[in-house]
Amino acid sequence: MRSLLPGILCLALVSCNTSPQNKKQTMSPTEEAMETGQDPHSYAKSNARVSHLNWIASVDFEAKQISAEAQWDITSEAGATDIFFDIYDLEIDSILVDGERVNYALSPMDHHLGQGLRIPIKETSKQVVIHYRTGDDARALQWLDPEQTADKSHPFLFTQSQAILARSWVPTQDSPGIRFTYNAKVSVPKDMIALMSASNPMERADDGTYKFEMPQAIPSYLLAMAVGNVRFEAISERTGVYAEPSLLDTSAYEFADLEKMVQAAEELYGPYAWGRYDLIVLPPSFPFGGMENPRLTFATPTILAGDRSLVSLVAHELAHSWSGNLVTNATWDDFWLNEGFTVYFEHRIMEAVYGREYSEMLASLTRDGLQEAAAEMLKEMPNDTKLKLDLEGRNPDDGVTSIPYDKGYFFLRLMEETVGRERFDEFLKNYFQGHKFEVMTTEEFISYLKENLLSEEEYASVRIDEWIYETGIPSNLPEVPSDRFAAVSAIVTSFMAEGELPSADVSNAWTTHEWLHFINSLPADISKEQLGVLDGAYGLSASGNSEISAAWFQPTIAAAYEPVYSKVESFLISVGRRKFLTPTYRALLDAGQEQMAKDIYAKARPNYHAVSRETMDALLGWE
Ligand SMILES: [Zn+2]
Repeated sequence: MRSLLPGILCLALVSCNTSPQNKKQTMSPTEEAMETGQDPHSYAKSNARVSHLNWIASVDFEAKQISAEAQWDITSEAGATDIFFDIYDLEIDSILVDGERVNYALSPMDHHLGQGLRIPIKETSKQVVIHYRTGDDARALQWLDPEQTADKSHPFLFTQSQAILARSWVPTQDSPGIRFTYNAKVSVPKDMIALMSASNPMERADDGTYKFEMPQAIPSYLLAMAVGNVRFEAISERTGVYAEPSLLDTSAYEFADLEKMVQAAEELYGPYAWGRYDLIVLPPSFPFGGMENPRLTFATPTILAGDRSLVSLVAHELAHSWSGNLVTNATWDDFWLNEGFTVYFEHRIMEAVYGREYSEMLASLTRDGLQEAAAEMLKEMPNDTKLKLDLEGRNPDDGVTSIPYDKGYFFLRLMEETVGRERFDEFLKNYFQGHKFEVMTTEEFISYLKENLLSEEEYASVRIDEWIYETGIPSNLPEVPSDRFAAVSAIVTSFMAEGELPSADVSNAWTTHEWLHFINSLPADISKEQLGVLDGAYGLSASGNSEISAAWFQPTIAAAYEPVYSKVESFLISVGRRKFLTPTYRALLDAGQEQMAKDIYAKARPNYHAVSRETMDALLGWE
């Protein structure tokens, strides 16, 4: 479907054409307006596409700006007269097509989409070169001062391109349905190292110049770069970790099972297709737990728990090397194809490496979280509880909820339980191998499912259409029994009834999962005094485990348990991971602590990436 964005109407009005950029044409209203193509979040059209990027860039930390030249190889169909790119707040200096400078046109600025950039080409055109600089509002980029890093000695830059932010640092056809290979040459200050979602250096170069190669085609949301004072430590032949020097040992310890995980994944669904698998631990303002940038997963330091208890996040990002990076959702409306498959695969990797009992605790937490989130969402945005989303005209980031992840997971788990694991694994392996480096829509997946896995009876019994196209969670949601969680629940019950707690050897043996289940099971009417008893016994307010802290903030903020407030404040100021920020700020609002929430946010906001800021601004009514 084509989208008629407000910007198109605006194109007809002279007053909209006030951009200061030179060499810019004014588009005539009678011309085909600049509208999005098949993907409502990109201006790119199917008749002229990019195929390879050669990116030459220099990173200026003083100006907080990247100056670059994007040399794009293109292919076009007969009759193509223009090629369309997506940009967001880029200052374009000049554009050349096959070496000749050309005029170009820009659509008016759209808050979510940025601008469409139209460049005239001939059918025979081979290359488009765009000279440009990033703007102050480059939403993918986060420039950190030294104080915002672990070592506090050097500044740091990282990108977050998903979903549609790549266009704020590279002019690109920013749709998950469009793939390209890339090379890059990047200059950075001499005391820093640059890394990308590509072949990476293991040591610092004396001249501060780095070359990269990504021979496997990727969509632009997987373009990534990090620049900082980081070092590398190998974990196996093909895996390793990058981190600031003070975090390197801890990180290498935490991710010691990386190679085992890659092997487990390969055994399940076929060879790892990307060469090396490395991981970089970023500063705490990174807005997500992890980002599956090919060859180099970006990870939050909040998973450094010291006991390897939060490494399921790594299993998740690794799983994306198949689901998402290899077989990619065609548009953000099909996001569950990336994330639901990845959560399923993540649980399977965890089961293979740490055993079923352990992975089932994770699944049980996932199930509880899903039901809670879906119940909330049904009140305000019921349509977003469908697996197949409709994000046209919205920020695709609105689709990042537990639905594509966890409803997607349970949908796949239900199919596994319906047809048996052996058949399901065979199906998935063929699905990944048969569609590698391709894109997938929800509808294509359903046809593939009908042809290759489910009989008509099975299709009906799973209730495929209800899972994908209807709101809420279907009643055939798989159960996840866990004896270990049942034991924890019994302890909560006896504590609430009689104030009794088990001896230390019981709770000392708990995993992070059991602690989370314990905290999540505390009833809504628990008193401050009871929370104080638990805090005294277990030191929960002082926990160094970010998942436990975030869970503990829920009942304590609700009960106005004051001893936790200073921890809430320091946590929100130092951590920028949205998964923790949203529920914690929301808990403050729900508890009538709006002023406290805003006071903390005023201090914390400069530390957050644009992705987190956008969500918190909306939540807190920030202006
Ligand atoms: Zn994911």
